[in-house]
Amino acid sequence: MNCQICGNGENLEEYAAKEMLLGTCDRFHYFQCPECWCLQIAAIPENMTPAEICVLRIPTVSSDAWRQYKTDWVSLDAPRYLFLHSIKSINMLAEESRLKVAAILYDALPKQFWGSEMIKRDISLLAEEDAGSRRKFFLSHFFHCIAWHYRTYQWNRERRGDQIVIFLKPA
Ligand SMILES: [Zn+2]
Repeated sequence: MNCQICGNGENLEEYAAKEMLLGTCDRFHYFQCPECWCLQIAAIPENMTPAEICVLRIPTVSSDAWRQYKTDWVSLDAPRYLFLHSIKSINMLAEESRLKVAAILYDALPKQFWGSEMIKRDISLLAEEDAGSRRKFFLSHFFHCIAWHYRTYQWNRERRGDQIVIFLKPA
């Protein structure tokens, strides 16, 4: 097995994931190349027909939440994502994997705002000891939360939200 981007065949780290594709099988293997840091699917399922789709749901840096919050952006929350893709990089990776992007759906959540605002204020989204700070944040940002819900809906419509569902088909 070699990296499809740079050709490197050494020290490739393997990962197994359960959720990336629907319909063909339920567990997929990915590897990450230590040379170019590209994350790639080890093998496209052989039984995938042109009528079937592969669904990928990820945060994207092609979003206004990234542009607005930068290092405070909630989706940078390591180590959940090894890579944060742009629409352009997704198209390049799809092509390398003999797939094409059939459609992109924007389905960001209001968390792009309140999560990032909390990180900006050094409030942990999970830590037990920050439960009081989280409660205080939501109480003092009640009207912001309403506005963030509305803005999330608007940004998704305008393809500016920070989370996308990508529908891939065999090329
Ligand atoms: Zn590589």
